[in-house]
Amino acid sequence: MKEQLDLLIRQVDDRQDELIGLLERLIQFRTPAPPARNTEEAQQFIASFLQDKGFAIDKWDVYPGDPNVVGVLKGQAGDTYKSLIINGHVDVAEVNEDEPWEKEPFTPIVRDGVIIGRGASDMKGGLAGALFAIQLLHEAGIELPGDLTFQSVIGEEVGEAGTLECCKRGYSADFAVVVDTSDLHIQGQGGVITGWITVKSKQTFHDATRKSMIHPGGKLFGANAIEKMMKVIQGLQELERHWAVMKSYPGYAPGTNTINPAVIEGGRHAAFIADECRLWITVHFYPNETYEQVAKEIEAHILQVAEGDIWLRENPPQFEWGGSSMIEDRGEIFPSLEVDANHSAVLTLMSSHESVVREQAIVDVSPTVTDGGWFGDAGIPAAIYGPGDLQNAHAVNEQVSIEQLIHFTKVILKFIYEWGHTRK
Ligand SMILES: [Zn+2]
Repeated sequence: MKEQLDLLIRQVDDRQDELIGLLERLIQFRTPAPPARNTEEAQQFIASFLQDKGFAIDKWDVYPGDPNVVGVLKGQAGDTYKSLIINGHVDVAEVNEDEPWEKEPFTPIVRDGVIIGRGASDMKGGLAGALFAIQLLHEAGIELPGDLTFQSVIGEEVGEAGTLECCKRGYSADFAVVVDTSDLHIQGQGGVITGWITVKSKQTFHDATRKSMIHPGGKLFGANAIEKMMKVIQGLQELERHWAVMKSYPGYAPGTNTINPAVIEGGRHAAFIADECRLWITVHFYPNETYEQVAKEIEAHILQVAEGDIWLRENPPQFEWGGSSMIEDRGEIFPSLEVDANHSAVLTLMSSHESVVREQAIVDVSPTVTDGGWFGDAGIPAAIYGPGDLQNAHAVNEQVSIEQLIHFTKVILKFIYEWGHTRK
């Protein structure tokens, strides 16, 4: 078993041109989100790639032009050996026209030990490495005892939960690796939930009534929704500070848990008293918290703030949490993910990393969010582990180191092999 694996791992070096070629091919598919709805061709390529290696393919439109692809390779003894999901998103960060790329971002450049192109780091490098590992296993005629599932999902960059759709469709395993940008750290993550807070008056008033609303003897019980939103924002700031003082999580700088008032919309016209004001907030929370829990904390605090205001008491703010897409319904959820460093899959991944990279594996937390949280939410133990770093993700001249891509490919190859040979 060991010799067979060592031979395969050596092949990653010998055939690195093919690995690089596969990443170049993936970068050439223009899959930025936004605008999204452009992954059909890339997903068909991945579906065919997996089908050639014996995977049963499930491909379905999450949105028109944006299908998910799930390939399942049944193990020889799936009932008694550990199963694995490898997950990655095929969409990449958007590119603005005026960005000063060295070359067109979807025409990869290979030189000086790096591959440059949109998605090199986030996260077509991870996809290419994992797919190439699968190719090597297939060509060597290795049949794993455990089941292997590969998920290529859409929409991650715009908060569209391609991965949630896979979970809803019933795909599960003993462990999942999200091969997103982690600089080869084994990571959990905090979570994000967006929400809308609405302050709304039951009546609409002409702006000439303002004097009766705010001055002695006016006798008009009304309010300007924009002004009342100021109290809500102040309340959010108080809660944010309280969280920063009272909550913490290893690996995060204090105060990483923030409540950002991101967008405000209110009023209808200068001839009216603003009768509605809506605030779009982004909430970052820690791996040991859930989005349901932080949403509840915010609601409870803001409703207390409203209780202290004579008008808001009668017209309490309303809350809408989450959403399925930043571009469809202006909302998103990324659940948090805690990594159990003593889980047998994490230990296997750590030892795979250490034997390939010859450095101690680092288990920590991602400063950003990935689809990893959906596995945590579905009760599937998971970790983020992929090539590339966040300085490069979403950046101009995004790139990945070829050495790191090769390391990743070897580690994931070894991990797939070993986990798939582990008894349940
Ligand atoms: Zn990503």
